[in-house]
Amino acid sequence: MYSVTNPATGELVEEIPNATDEQVEAAVGRVHRGYGSWRRRPVAERAAVVLRAAELFAERADELAAIMTLEMGKRINEGRGEVGVVVDIFTYYGERGPALLADEPLAIKGGEAVLTREPLGALLGVMPWNFPCYQVARFVAPNLVLGNTILLKHASICPRSAKAIEEILHEAGVPEDVYVNTYASSRQVPGILADPRVQGVSLTGSEQAGVAVAADAGRNLKRCVLELGGSDPLIVLDTADMDETVKATATARMRNCGQSCNAPKRIIVLDEIYDEFVSGFTKRVAEYYVAGDPADPATTLPPLASIAAAEEVAAQVRTAVGQGATLRTGGKRLGPGAYLEATVLTDVTPGMDAYREEIFGPVALIFRAGSEDEAVAIANDSPFGLGASVFGTEAARLRRVAGRIESGMVYLNRAGGSQADLPFGGIKRSGMGRELGTLGIEEFMNRKSIRL
Ligand code: NDP
Repeated sequence: MYSVTNPATGELVEEIPNATDEQVEAAVGRVHRGYGSWRRRPVAERAAVVLRAAELFAERADELAAIMTLEMGKRINEGRGEVGVVVDIFTYYGERGPALLADEPLAIKGGEAVLTREPLGALLGVMPWNFPCYQVARFVAPNLVLGNTILLKHASICPRSAKAIEEILHEAGVPEDVYVNTYASSRQVPGILADPRVQGVSLTGSEQAGVAVAADAGRNLKRCVLELGGSDPLIVLDTADMDETVKATATARMRNCGQSCNAPKRIIVLDEIYDEFVSGFTKRVAEYYVAGDPADPATTLPPLASIAAAEEVAAQVRTAVGQGATLRTGGKRLGPGAYLEATVLTDVTPGMDAYREEIFGPVALIFRAGSEDEAVAIANDSPFGLGASVFGTEAARLRRVAGRIESGMVYLNRAGGSQADLPFGGIKRSGMGRELGTLGIEEFMNRKSIRL
């Protein structure tokens, strides 16, 4: 069942039954048929449609933000900001896409060849609720320009976002059989991937969902991009302005109520400034983040996406404290909605669950490191490898530390975030493949070599 439940109140707003197997089968047939004509449209035409979609997303930013606030509790201003990034992504691939798909002449031994960049066919997207518009945009914009077609299974708590995105794309000129939203259940995903008319899958979500989808993709030899969880480290080496560093790191951790795959979830601070940092950070978190209505632009702490999510994160905090972590502030569930106080934990050690798990909510873990080497060792001692941040005052030292971190992305003197032209993705249990930038258009591409 797809359903809309307002996480600020717990009120059930709408229920939508799952698609039947026949409806899913028909949807696969549509995107397969749509591929035949879409791939033959000149790339400039496909790019123009994607640019038109960017305009429509911009025009409907307020409406989309309101939907996200209702469905998953995003602060209204963050929702508008998210749609701004969506506009950038559609604009980037609309403008740059044709050049990224140009033929490449190859000088080879004994002659010449050319590498052409062609689409693969119909793709499945399985998307999460934390950034209902942005996650879809990363997958959809490059693949539409490339000439692939898309069947989209959104998170079951975001049916209205899913529908609005489909409407915008169709209104922009994406043919109805080129982008199809389906209210399929996750149980129907293996059948979709087994279908020979589907060529690949992109999933953003939990590790468990990633493991299931990667296994189905592997069994059927389908291409697969996985953008999974993270427990990104943020190392503070030193600072010229403690207040600014505290504010920037707290903002990054609490963005989207802590429900970002690439939020800095483990803050690692060098010994010399640890005590000052912890007391400043705890004060900031305790005073600034106050639970409120996510539809009110003044609110600083919205609910989590669902009551189940809030309960789960609260339980992770309780377990950490039970295992010996120090609760510096927060930790309490607030009702009736899906609220959890903004929380700071210290003294988390390798034997504790919180040391290895991703905590997908407004909870920061702060670690003390005796040296740069120890900070890097803690940063890398994780099953995940999505992003990382390093804060400090010396450029050469920042670059050196960046080079030692095992992750797909590193941000220097800034934390997390995402932009259209910067490749995004992880290593280890954070997934495989890249989205955005010049790499994001290559994942579901047939790089065809033609020997002349
Ligand atoms: P899920 O991973 O369950 O949901 C993401 C998407 O995957 C949804 O569309 C979901 O469908 C689908 N899905 C779930 N299981 C399967 C499966 N076995 N086969 C195919 N599709 C599947 O996220 P949750 O809501 O359960 O969140 C749990 C945790 O996941 C979070 O606490 C966080 O750690 C992580 N997460 C990470 C995200 C990221 O940005 N990397 C985003 C969201 C979650 P349906 O909704 O119908 O179940």
